[in-house]
Amino acid sequence: MIVLKFGGSSVANATAMSRVLDIVEQAAEKDRVILVSSAISGCTDALIQIGKAEDPEQLIDALERKHLAIINRLFTGKERLDAVSDCRSTFSEVRCIPPVIESFGELLSTRILSRKLSCEGFKATWIDSRNMIFTSGGEVDTEKSYAAIVRTIYSYPETRIFVAPGFIARDENENVTTLGRGGSDYSASLFAAATDADDLEIWTDVPGIMTTNPKVVSAARTIPEISYKAAFDMASYGAKVLYAPAVAPAREKGIAINIRNTFDPSNPGTIICARNAAIGEWKGVASLDDEQSGTTRVCLIGEGPVGAKAAVRRIETALREAGIKPLGEVQCEDGTNFCISVRSNVARNTVAAVHREFFEERALTTLDVYVAGHGAVGSALKDIVDACGGRFPSAGKRINIKEISSSHDFADRVLETARSRSIFVDCTDSTEIWRKFIPMFNKGISVVTSNRRSLAIPYVDYAAIKAAAAENGCFFRYDTTVGNALPILQSISDGANCGDGVTLIEAVVSCTLNYIITGYDGARRESFATLLRKAQADGLTEQDPRIDLGGRDALRKLLILSREAGVPLEEKDVEIVPMLGPEYFKGSIEDFYRRLDEDEAKFVQREDELDAMGSRQRFVASLRRRDDGTFKAEIKMRLVGIDSPFYWISGTENVTIIHSGEAYPLVIKGSGEGARLAASGIIRNILQ
Ligand code: ADP
Ligand code: ASP
Ligand code: MG
Repeated sequence: MIVLKFGGSSVANATAMSRVLDIVEQAAEKDRVILVSSAISGCTDALIQIGKAEDPEQLIDALERKHLAIINRLFTGKERLDAVSDCRSTFSEVRCIPPVIESFGELLSTRILSRKLSCEGFKATWIDSRNMIFTSGGEVDTEKSYAAIVRTIYSYPETRIFVAPGFIARDENENVTTLGRGGSDYSASLFAAATDADDLEIWTDVPGIMTTNPKVVSAARTIPEISYKAAFDMASYGAKVLYAPAVAPAREKGIAINIRNTFDPSNPGTIICARNAAIGEWKGVASLDDEQSGTTRVCLIGEGPVGAKAAVRRIETALREAGIKPLGEVQCEDGTNFCISVRSNVARNTVAAVHREFFEERALTTLDVYVAGHGAVGSALKDIVDACGGRFPSAGKRINIKEISSSHDFADRVLETARSRSIFVDCTDSTEIWRKFIPMFNKGISVVTSNRRSLAIPYVDYAAIKAAAAENGCFFRYDTTVGNALPILQSISDGANCGDGVTLIEAVVSCTLNYIITGYDGARRESFATLLRKAQADGLTEQDPRIDLGGRDALRKLLILSREAGVPLEEKDVEIVPMLGPEYFKGSIEDFYRRLDEDEAKFVQREDELDAMGSRQRFVASLRRRDDGTFKAEIKMRLVGIDSPFYWISGTENVTIIHSGEAYPLVIKGSGEGARLAASGIIRNILQ
């Protein structure tokens, strides 16, 4: 059985009712349905007014017209005549101002719904809640009610959709009564419990139980899942979306209650179920007015171990900051709920202040970012930022990409237009863009770069750039220039700034060379030349792959590493022994490949010798402190044994080994390639 309950706004007019019927008919394809409905929106209030009015005739006419308008929209022909006469006869009873006059609203709405379902060919049966839900001493007699409900359902084996009025019942003296304002939720829960329903859905005009009343705080969000207890507490403390007594029957039978939005049926809404929050969760803020005293109790409802002291402090601070004076102290109830009384005229502000403190993200600082270079890394950066709407709440920041461009004059344009505190990101491979950095800093613009060429410049320029950044209170970050997103530079500057300083750095950081070398000594299914051609085709090498083989990229990285370690190295200080002899570097690229093919046998032989020795070749960049305190920097092929971290690497993997006087060196190993990784490293540098 599926029990579906619709509130007053869900059946407010013919259009809304049609929506309800769609939802009900879809459910009826899966199982038998009990449709429980409230009176049309405003009807119960109107009936109560009618009951009290001296001259109620006009009010009655207006309410009747509302119902007739719905009937006229939903029915035609004989069906319309029948529905009209049904409606009129109910209103003739209303005109006599019977006791419990408010019970008529649900009779009117459900008879219309039931008739419409029958008209559409469904096996629908209207059932009378006044003969199924019984109260005694003001409480529902569940045993008697469940038996009556089951008996009724049982007597209509053919019926697919039962239609029952919510809210109304019968008391121990056989008089009609109600379950209290908002009581249709309770009726539905009783029907569900009696029939051991698989589903209980309460359809209303909001997408579930929300963190607070969305009519008071527009930033309120749907609570996806909440325990029976916290839902009960929210309801009892004033969240009108659910009638608190409705929780118990479903809870006792372990039936989850799903609160849904009739006007947005695809929204999954809120599930109320048995759950234990292992860590504290804040669920919502509710408020209850006490009209007599003109005060309101505002309650923050939590689930699980929420931490009472901190909660009290946060509420007090939030109220103080909002300029609200509470009447008394914050009271903790049940260890999870925190209530404070205020004058009713500041109730909305109080709810808003507590909600802001516990449920709304703090304002994020916006960083205006200009990205130079719309290649793989620039695009990945934009994708990552777009995917989260630029919001990085844990860093308290929002990245606003003002512009991304590969155009050559972009840096100049940024210099002209960007405001101070903006960030310029260099994802280019330009050898000249670094000349704009000092002017950027002078304008208060910080710089993040992943472009090695912007760092592998004469030391004086490098030092001037760093000094200009510091002088202007800007930052200059370039962690991704070596080892992509690996924390290499940070580790080196840490090592350089403490203890003995860095004594030795050894690094296999050229992705391209690594890919070729490890690819060759690995399976060795392909010739050296084939492997290199593939790397070239995959964009891993420069146009002329000999630039890579010559160690140019490794040289740039070693410069950056060394300078980070505090060693003012220049290119000329580095001794490079290229992988291949000078003869390979003459002639055209095709000459080069031809020579490689001719020499393949020699390469194979060399590999076999190395295998026999249990060694492998690696192209290693190193910086070593000599005894006299000077440094030696070199890049060359080295033979490494099985005990070296360089032995076990493959593809574009990077390894950096940092010695700084500790007993064991720091080894950083991981992926040195990939645009998304580079972009994530850049984002870290931006947010840092
Ligand atoms: P129905 O007629 O469908 O039973 P109600 O008017 O009884 O609907 O309850 C829905 C209303 O409850 C919403 O329109 C909303 O204004 C109010 N409300 C109060 N607190 C909350 C809350 N925490 N989450 C969602 N709605 C809430
Ligand atoms: N119609 C009744 C009320 O307005 C019951 C309900 O809507 O749940 O209180
Ligand atoms: Mg309600």
